[in-house]
Amino acid sequence: VSAERGIFRVRARAVVLAMGCRERPRGALDICGTRPAGVYTAGTAQRLVNIDGLLPGREVVILGSGDIGLIMARRLTLEGAHVACVAELMPYSGGLKRNIVQCLDDSGIPLKLSHTVVDVEGERRVKAVTIARVDDRLQPIPGTEVRYPCDTLLLSVGLLPENELSRQAGVRINPVTRGAFVNDQLMTSVPGVFACGNVLHVHDLVDYVSEESAHAGACAARYVQEAAGLAAGEKDLPGAATELPIEATGGVRYTVPSFVSPGRMADTMKLRFRVGAVYQDRYVSVYVGDRRVSHRRKPVMAPGEMQEVTLRRADLADARPGDTVRVLLEDE
Ligand SMILES: Cc1cc2nc3c(=O)[nH]c(=O)nc-3n(C[C@H](O)[C@H](O)[C@H](O)COP(=O)(O)OP(=O)(O)OC[C@H]3O[C@@H](n4cnc5c(N)ncnc54)[C@H](O)[C@@H]3O)c2cc1C
Repeated sequence: VSAERGIFRVRARAVVLAMGCRERPRGALDICGTRPAGVYTAGTAQRLVNIDGLLPGREVVILGSGDIGLIMARRLTLEGAHVACVAELMPYSGGLKRNIVQCLDDSGIPLKLSHTVVDVEGERRVKAVTIARVDDRLQPIPGTEVRYPCDTLLLSVGLLPENELSRQAGVRINPVTRGAFVNDQLMTSVPGVFACGNVLHVHDLVDYVSEESAHAGACAARYVQEAAGLAAGEKDLPGAATELPIEATGGVRYTVPSFVSPGRMADTMKLRFRVGAVYQDRYVSVYVGDRRVSHRRKPVMAPGEMQEVTLRRADLADARPGDTVRVLLEDE
C-alpha cells in the first residue's frame, strides 16, 4: 500500500521485511481502575511533543523503564512538566544505563524498581495513580501502595515486532524475540524473504538497525542475482546449503541470527543477543561443537542492553554437519 498509489501488486524475487515494531498498549496490561483520558504510550507522547508541539500533561507518572519512557521523562521535564517517578516491574531497568543516568538521575527523577501501577483514578482525566512494590512472583505487596496525584500516565512497557504479514507469509517466528528466525544472510525460513530492524528483534539504537538493514539489502540483492544465475544454469555456491543452528543458552535469551552457513558467511559476522538478567563479571563464550572459539570478559550485562560477539569464518572451518554453535555466559 502507498499513499500515492493505494493498493497495488509488485512481483519480486526477494522481499525484505522491515515493518518495525509497535508499543505494547494499555489493553495488554492488567491495570485496575477507571479508563480516563491521560494514559498514553511513551511513543504517542513523544509524537505529541516532538511533532505536534503539544504537552500531554503537567504531572506525570511513567510505568516501565524502556528507553522511550526514560527519554520522555527528560523531555517532559525540559518542557516544564513534573515527572513524579518511573515505576518498573522488574528488579532492573529495561533501558540503557546511559539513559537512566542522563534522563532520570540528572533530573532527580526516582526510578522505582520492582514496582507497578495498581490503580488509576479519574473520571474524564487521570486524577491519581497508585503504585506498589511487587514480590519475587511480580505480585503487588499489600501495604506498600503509594498514591501519586497526577494528570498523566505514560506506558513504556515493551515493544512488539509487527509480524502479522510475516506470519501470513509462513515465516517461522522465534517465540523469544517475536521476530523471524533468520540465518547469517538475514533470510527467514521462507526462501527469498529477509528481515531486519525492529521487526526482527527490538533494537536499542537506530545505528544497529541501519547496519543490519544494509546487510539485509545486500543479501537480498545477491539472492536475486544468484537466483537469476541458477535459472541460467549456474551451480549453487559450495556449502551454501549447510547451516549450523546457533543455540542461546546459559543466561543468553536469544541470538540473531539463529543459523550460520560456514560455506557462505562473510569473514566475520556479528552475533547479537540479549541476556535474561543482570550479570557482572561474566565471560561470553562461543562454542562450535565442543570447541570454544571465543571467550570474552564483560564487566556488566543487562537485559536492556543488546550485546554482540564476533564470529569468525575461520572458527567454523572444522565444523561438521550436525554441530551446533552455542553462545553462553560462563563464570570463568
Ligand atoms: C517510539 C520509538 C522511539 C524510538 N526512539 C529512538 C531514538 O530516539 N533513537 C534511537 O536511536 N532509536 C530509537 N528507537 C529505536 C528504533 O529501534 C529505531 O530508531 C528504528 O526506527 C527502528 O527502525 P525500523 O526500520 O526497524 O522500524 P521503523 O522505523 O518503525 O519503520 C517501520 C516502518 O514500516 C511501516 N510499516 C509497518 N507495517 C507496514 C505495512 N504492512 N505496510 C507498509 N508499511 C508498514 C511503519 O509504518 C514504519 O514506517 C525508537 C523506537 C520507538 C518504537
